Amino acid sequence: MTIQLKEELKTLDQKHFLHPTTSIEQQQTQGPAAIFTEGNGIYLKDIEGNIYIDGMSSLWNVNVGHGRKEIAEVAKEQISTLAFSSCFASFSNEPAIRLATKIASLTPGDLNTVFFTSGGSESNDTAIKLARHYWLLKGQPERQKIISRTHSYHGVAMGATNATGLQAFRDFTNSHAPDFHYVYSESVRNLRETIEALGPETVAAFISEPVQGAGGVNIPQKDYFKEVRKICDEYGILFIADEVITGFGRTGKFFGMEHYGVVPDMMSFAKGVSSGYVQLGGVAISEKLHQDLCELSKGTLMHGYTYSGHALACQVGLKNIEILERENLVENAANMGDAMLEGFQALQEKYSFIGRVRTLGLLGAIELVKSRETGELFESPLSPIFVQETMKRGLILRTVTYDQDTVVFAPPLILSKVELDEMLRILDETFEHIRKTIVEKV
Ligand code: PLP
Repeated sequence: MTIQLKEELKTLDQKHFLHPTTSIEQQQTQGPAAIFTEGNGIYLKDIEGNIYIDGMSSLWNVNVGHGRKEIAEVAKEQISTLAFSSCFASFSNEPAIRLATKIASLTPGDLNTVFFTSGGSESNDTAIKLARHYWLLKGQPERQKIISRTHSYHGVAMGATNATGLQAFRDFTNSHAPDFHYVYSESVRNLRETIEALGPETVAAFISEPVQGAGGVNIPQKDYFKEVRKICDEYGILFIADEVITGFGRTGKFFGMEHYGVVPDMMSFAKGVSSGYVQLGGVAISEKLHQDLCELSKGTLMHGYTYSGHALACQVGLKNIEILERENLVENAANMGDAMLEGFQALQEKYSFIGRVRTLGLLGAIELVKSRETGELFESPLSPIFVQETMKRGLILRTVTYDQDTVVFAPPLILSKVELDEMLRILDETFEHIRKTIVEKV
């Protein structure tokens, strides 16, 4: 690509493309951070010809890695035969039926009926609305409140935004949906107190990610969700697991909730179900919920997206899951996740400004701290500079700076030991650079 063409793309990007979750000021002054042209395995290539390790599977989603020709082939075949047909009014198509069946076979417990969406936000809005609708049908119309956790992220649709515990997303507008409440992140006691204070008979559902992603890869204690399940059962509250990041192998099990031995009433998913090759998400609901809906519903389920059950998206989802299973990628995520943790711990021993490190499968975090003893943070967060420096060295990562200073990791589940070692080498080099240029100077 000529220099002129590259400049043209950058200018057009600034003028015509309003980017999602992006600093407008930064985009307007600096232009796009990179314009990608190709993906292959764990790697991305940009218009400058730079090659990067996609350390975040782009947005925690490209689980099977980039450039899968067999996905392209089934997509082409599906588009040529039936790209799309409506699933409203009981119309159906084979890929949607097959994918719903496949997901029912993979999800824990009796989560055996699937509603399809085009992404995570729609999935969580669906779960929230289904919970509220359920209580209407059950003759308990006052049960409309949704409880979520601080540091949670559930997306940006109206319900999903208001369920999100990261305040900055709610502060984006001044007008909030009613009946959303928050509990201190991992406090079972606070959950019980909140339910009691709100009035248990007014609470429809509790929603939580098995491991909070955007909130800093926060991995709960082993018994946290068992306690949550107990409390929800005690008060008759529905439990929604947001598996948008953790679903489809990310944590070394097919679904994050499997680590905790807990079956929720609904499970929202997206991202890894199609590894981002097409837009796809959904909600798996329990047999009990489905049965009640069937028995109590009087007319039409007044909720549906044009693309619910999109034939092309579902066919791609099926192929993606076939790859996950055939290549044992869930097991690989567990093994590489353990190796990634060892690598993080070795770095932790070497650099005093690394605080806590953690992984669950190929979902990980490294906290940066001024003092490991007190947990004091640097006045100005280091992680944004850190990820700029890893990018210069060929590794794309993300940061979480909401009351912490954390670098987060979610590499594709195909990651090999050699590729992991390359990632760790870049991290080591970057930590060394940050120590010399910043940490030793503060
Ligand atoms: N839930 C979780 C846990 C997420 O991480 C995300 C996106 O990052 C969402 C929901 C929203 O998904 P989407 O961006 O596909 O709407």
